[in-house]
Amino acid sequence: MSARILVVDDMPVNRRLMQAQLSEEYFEVLLASSGPEALDICRREMVDLVLLDVMMPDMDGYEVCRRLKAEPTTLHIPVVLVTALDQQADRVRGLEAGADDFLTKPVRGLPLFSRIRSLTRLKMLTDELRVRAETAARVVAEPWDLGAETMGRNGRLCAMMARPEEALRVKRLVGAEHMIMPAVEPDAVLNPTEPVDLFILDLQAEAFDALRLCSRLRSNEGTRQTPILLIAGPEDEARITRGLELGANDYCQRPLDPNELLARIRTQIKRKRYDEGLRRSVQTTIELATIDPLTGLYNRRFLDGHLAQASEQSVRSGRPLCVLILDIDHFKQINDTYGHDVGDEVLRQFAERVRRSLRASDLAARIGGEEFALLMPDTDLASAEGAAERLRELIEAEPFEVQDLAIPVTSSVGLASLNGVEPRGLMKRADIALYDAKRAGRNRVVVASDLSTAGP
Ligand code: GH3
Ligand code: MG
Ligand code: MG
Repeated sequence: MSARILVVDDMPVNRRLMQAQLSEEYFEVLLASSGPEALDICRREMVDLVLLDVMMPDMDGYEVCRRLKAEPTTLHIPVVLVTALDQQADRVRGLEAGADDFLTKPVRGLPLFSRIRSLTRLKMLTDELRVRAETAARVVAEPWDLGAETMGRNGRLCAMMARPEEALRVKRLVGAEHMIMPAVEPDAVLNPTEPVDLFILDLQAEAFDALRLCSRLRSNEGTRQTPILLIAGPEDEARITRGLELGANDYCQRPLDPNELLARIRTQIKRKRYDEGLRRSVQTTIELATIDPLTGLYNRRFLDGHLAQASEQSVRSGRPLCVLILDIDHFKQINDTYGHDVGDEVLRQFAERVRRSLRASDLAARIGGEEFALLMPDTDLASAEGAAERLRELIEAEPFEVQDLAIPVTSSVGLASLNGVEPRGLMKRADIALYDAKRAGRNRVVVASDLSTAGP
């Protein structure tokens, strides 16, 4: 997949040179000749990565970077600073401005491309999460928070170094800001007993293969999303490139500079927390859209969607599917006698009894004020009727204890099974059966008299 790279440089010759190199590798290139122009493009256009010259008149690269990373609409775009300087202090200054990496002029092809590929690959994952979070927010009609600046401190780092004293050294360098958990076995890395924010792997270790570990961390469900930082020697270019291809997020070369190491760790942790925030927001929105807040059961919307799917599957596989609708009897009286809060508590406890009676494959939803539905896949009408009767008894058996009260509660149940009829018809038939149960005196189960019982 091609990426859109914005090249920012005040010198036309540098822009042209970079554009030629990148186009050759089939990247799409945008150009800007100043900081303000770059900021403008990043706000308006879709940009996958910014290659940013440090030395520019008026607004230098550090300042552009700081502004990009401070804005919710642009903070997720990776920034690589490009400069003629090769002073450690300048690298650190760039990383502290929020840059994701630092390249020194003249920029050579290979490190440049492997860096771009790894950074844009990560960005595309984040983009996907951003889209989902945005969609999810639209579904529940809530404005979504594009993700505020997250902190890159207090991380839990799992470090697998060549020797124990190397792990101690890492601990000395960054231990004031992060918690270091040294690992001596690859197994401890692959199956961490505690949550990990970042793995640090030593490419120079002889006792284990850091690249293999890298690839296994990426294919492992539990560690797939956790960033990896490689520690490399000065001559490790080829293995670094390989590591980035395998999914490592960044690297630091020996001799280790504490500030550079800290800055790179911070960047990785920030990115991880940002992605986690997006994932959480998607999760929360999905829950808001599908879960009934009072009882924690699914809501009507979810049931409808699920019912369509479940009935389609039932028709296709020829397996039975039953639906029952439960309605609390004379619930209005409970509200009128004890108040709405007590009524709410009865609903909660009712849901709890329903939940307790469920089998793993059943699905329960609250589909109205005091109306619940149970979807029972792979269940024939006779078994479903048995389950409905047990559930009705379970409700009636013990009065509901709310505050100091013991409130007797009963429910009426309508039951229908699917037999080649369309799903909406299924709910409708269960509903009619429920109505019959009410009319016949409540506190009973009525099975829909329908085609499904007639047999072939
Ligand atoms: P029936 O046996 O015919 O079902 O009688 P009912 O009183 O249970 O049925 P009806 O539909 O007349 O009344 C339902 C009541 O449920 C009315 C409504 O105020 C109450 N209700 C609906 N949602 C909630 C809720 O979330 N909390 C509480 N406490 N009451 C609710
Ligand atoms: Mg009722
Ligand atoms: Mg009702």
